[in-house]
Amino acid sequence: MKFDKSAKLYKKGCKHLVGAVNSPVRAFKSVGGNPIFIKEAKGSKIIDVDHNIYIDLVQSYGPMILGHKNKKVDSAVEKALKSGYTFGASTEMEIKLANLVCKSIKTIDKIRFVNSGTEAVLSALRLARAYTGKSKIIKFSGCYHGHSDALLVAAGSGVATLSIPGSKGVPEEAVKNTLIAEYNNIESVKQLIDQHKDIAGIILEPVAGNMGVVRPNQQFVEQLNELTSANDILMIVDEVMTGYRTKFGATHELLGFNADIVCLGKVIGGGFPVGAYGARNEIMEMVAPLGEMYQAGTLSGNPIAMACGYATLKTLKKRSPYKQFKAQAEIIENFLLDAAKENDIELTVNRYGSMINPFFTSERVVDFKSAQTSDTEKFKVFFWNMIENGVYIPPSQFESWFLSAELSEKDLKTIEKAIRIAIKAVSEIKTTEIKEA
Ligand SMILES: *Cc1c(COP(=O)(O)O)cnc(C)c1O
Repeated sequence: MKFDKSAKLYKKGCKHLVGAVNSPVRAFKSVGGNPIFIKEAKGSKIIDVDHNIYIDLVQSYGPMILGHKNKKVDSAVEKALKSGYTFGASTEMEIKLANLVCKSIKTIDKIRFVNSGTEAVLSALRLARAYTGKSKIIKFSGCYHGHSDALLVAAGSGVATLSIPGSKGVPEEAVKNTLIAEYNNIESVKQLIDQHKDIAGIILEPVAGNMGVVRPNQQFVEQLNELTSANDILMIVDEVMTGYRTKFGATHELLGFNADIVCLGKVIGGGFPVGAYGARNEIMEMVAPLGEMYQAGTLSGNPIAMACGYATLKTLKKRSPYKQFKAQAEIIENFLLDAAKENDIELTVNRYGSMINPFFTSERVVDFKSAQTSDTEKFKVFFWNMIENGVYIPPSQFESWFLSAELSEKDLKTIEKAIRIAIKAVSEIKTTEIKEA
């Protein structure tokens, strides 16, 4: 496989773009090598500028659930484009998308559209604080909620519990109201609630996808529900990744989480920049113009983005690929585990619906700490072998793979073959290391 044109573009891009990218994970830093530049995509496949064709398991990190260039979505976008790009005034499509979302997620009576998941989450925190009159927020280490100051707290356990910012440029004051608990560990939540009286909300990913896939256990869900209602703490469920991914609606409902505020993004824009937050009437009526919590956006509810999101959700509802996702994820899990067994590689696979990824560890992965036991050197070799064999997966051990409705039997065969080769290559690094030793 050649990457000459990508390499050239990377060099060119470095001059005026930071690392030639507009979002860090695209830079391939954790797997080494140059980033791949994409030319186009269709259905389950994505094509780079060197004309290498891959099965796309990145899905733009979630939004492209129907696969690329879905016909219905395409024509909806084209139709919207004909009427103009943005008006700074309301359009009917915003109402249509709002109706569709509110009908499919019980927690949400009213919704506000924004332009990204980051924006949805930071607004949801403001809302939780406005509604409760309290300041502190509990988040879980390893959960990602966008790049707003208050949520960029180091995700590594020791420093994390001290609320030290995880990025330069985030002042300590910005994270002093962010408390860190451990996923699937209710004691860590209880301790924080005992120590702090001023907790407005707990934010979490109902299924974590940003430390790799980590499911909550049932007891954790139930006890979190009890703790939050007993202490008047709002549950802010960040469904930016999981919304419409595992069912037509919100994943927290499947898992039994109570939710007060729900954040959405990714799938609801179908590939255009859309985020949203919603809640029951009483909470949303705090938001301007009805209430005194200010939040605004020049391009919020953009008509092209709304048309794309609406067509995506409509098509998704009709097509309901969720059973297919589960079956295919199970097949991929078996490919991974069988190949690992054959090659004597320690591997854990976590999945939920259309989200799946392998961890190169023998430990069960239930939180950030266990996720971090993964051997990222092994992942690097695995990653490049997957790429070389026509399967595009996220360039990080700690990202979920996403399935699309377009994934075919034939694609699964290609994935199986790539996995076999990639796992074998991983087993070969092991032998060379032993030889050297
Ligand atoms: C992607 C993601 C975000 C951030 O969304 P952006 O659109 O990248 O700002 C927030 N929360 C979760 C759970 C996400 O997966």
